[in-house]
Amino acid sequence: MSIAETAVATATTEADVRVIPHWIDGGERASTSGRTAPVYNPATGAVSAQVALADEAEIDAAIASALRGYEVWSQFSLARRQSVLFSFRELLNARKRELAEIITAEHGKVVSDAMGEILRGQEVVELATGFPHFLKGAFSENASSGIDVYSLKQPLGVVGIISPFNFPAMVPMWFFPIAIAAGNAVVLKPSEKDPSAALWLAALWREAGLPDGVFTVLQGDKLAVDGLLESPDVSSISFVGSTPIAQYIYETASKHGKRVQALGGAKNHMLVLPDADLELVADQAVNAGYGAAGERCMAISVVLAVEPVADDLIGKIQERIARLRIGNGAGADGIEPDMGPLITDVHRDKVSEYVDIAEADGARIVVDGRGLTVEGHEDGFFFGPTLIDDIPTTSRAYQEEIFGPVLSVVRVQSYDEGIELINSGRFGNGTAIFTNDGGAARRFQNEVQVGMIGINVPIPVPVAYHSFGGWKQSLFGDAKAYGAHGFDFFTREKAITSRWLDPATRSHSGHTGINL
Ligand code: NAD
Repeated sequence: MSIAETAVATATTEADVRVIPHWIDGGERASTSGRTAPVYNPATGAVSAQVALADEAEIDAAIASALRGYEVWSQFSLARRQSVLFSFRELLNARKRELAEIITAEHGKVVSDAMGEILRGQEVVELATGFPHFLKGAFSENASSGIDVYSLKQPLGVVGIISPFNFPAMVPMWFFPIAIAAGNAVVLKPSEKDPSAALWLAALWREAGLPDGVFTVLQGDKLAVDGLLESPDVSSISFVGSTPIAQYIYETASKHGKRVQALGGAKNHMLVLPDADLELVADQAVNAGYGAAGERCMAISVVLAVEPVADDLIGKIQERIARLRIGNGAGADGIEPDMGPLITDVHRDKVSEYVDIAEADGARIVVDGRGLTVEGHEDGFFFGPTLIDDIPTTSRAYQEEIFGPVLSVVRVQSYDEGIELINSGRFGNGTAIFTNDGGAARRFQNEVQVGMIGINVPIPVPVAYHSFGGWKQSLFGDAKAYGAHGFDFFTREKAITSRWLDPATRSHSGHTGINL
């Protein structure tokens, strides 16, 4: 069976359960560590596979193979590299539906949403195909008499990418197309919750003509992560995940002398001014709050309604929630639901506890998704869309990231009260303002302490030729993902100061013969 077929199949007995391997030296590598973790189909609750968890020997083998890959790949001409990138883009474009089905089978999101994540990743692949432009150095002729100064951008070597469960294709694609285009070799440690997308991408690279060892998938848990953080042969770490782990990654990788970018969690607010179009706001709040079951780092989780709009807006959101279909993201009878399950039962229970906390703290649960079951999928990890009104801003359910389909409303009296709440939070990933007042929007973009801002746009993920990254505890390090930041992160510069003797006079400066 192909990677696509095996990922989508569900094991029927213990004995059927296959172990998802690593990808080392240009092919699948079975693990001998004896350590595994279960991978679920979240819609059915069934274990579909076990994933290998690397031991020290496998970590070493992965890094050693990547080093060999780097030696070969970094010497490829730009033109040869570019033809591999174009092939990868063409293959991805032609076969992305296979990848979407793998994502849905292990993550649970609906297939059209999985296609959406692939498209956002593909944008970065497309940007990376134009990499020679980004790798050009600068040249200053005659900086001093007869002396030219110029710069080169060279790859780092072996680079590590550690990704979260919620975008198993897009988040790795924020980094690896640019890292590879720039001449590096990548070791990707995907989330152990949905590890098959990475293997599928690895096989695609092989088909596109990438030399062995340039793209490695190391399946694993903390042991594999720590192996990458501590290895002297890994030059940089690109991490995306929760804030406590992002901080740990940043500190540990820095201590080991690595370049590091570590993107963390979020709590994104939407500020709704009284002049906003409430039909548009309600549509966008529902899409941005409940799409992908809220498991997006750019999901909207708090609506700050500047009075007097809250009652009206809550009514409109409620109407829309009533129309949402929740079910198996793979669809049935050609019909796709609006929202799939959460990633695990453990995570579902954690989301549920946050709603309990909000309630205990005095919030009003307007729509309650706790205890939802889906007919025919009684063991799936479903949680219904939940709407909370009047959540106290002192509640942990307001302050912490829930990462589920839970939208909270805070009623505020003014723009100033709203922006004060956004700016006092510890995260600064994304935010949005909804208004028809250009002056208010302009003031908001200037004053808000957040990295990515939407104006009448709820999930402002920048296009590939800009860069993605938040502020405060949503990003540790100073390099964002992709765009110009990506090329800077995955290259290091050399500045060369050069003087050539004048061939006619053998003098240094070309005319006087005097050393200047
Ligand atoms: P996570 O932090 O649990 O895991 C991320 C990665 O770190 C995984 O590969 C995991 O194996 C590894 N990891 C987990 N615990 C570790 C430990 N103790 N030591 C070393 N490595 C460890 O995150 P997740 O649950 O997979 O993903 C959801 C989180 O990611 C949310 O907080 C979400 O906001 C965040 N996220 C942020 C962005 C962003 O751009 N800022 C994008 C996507 C997801």
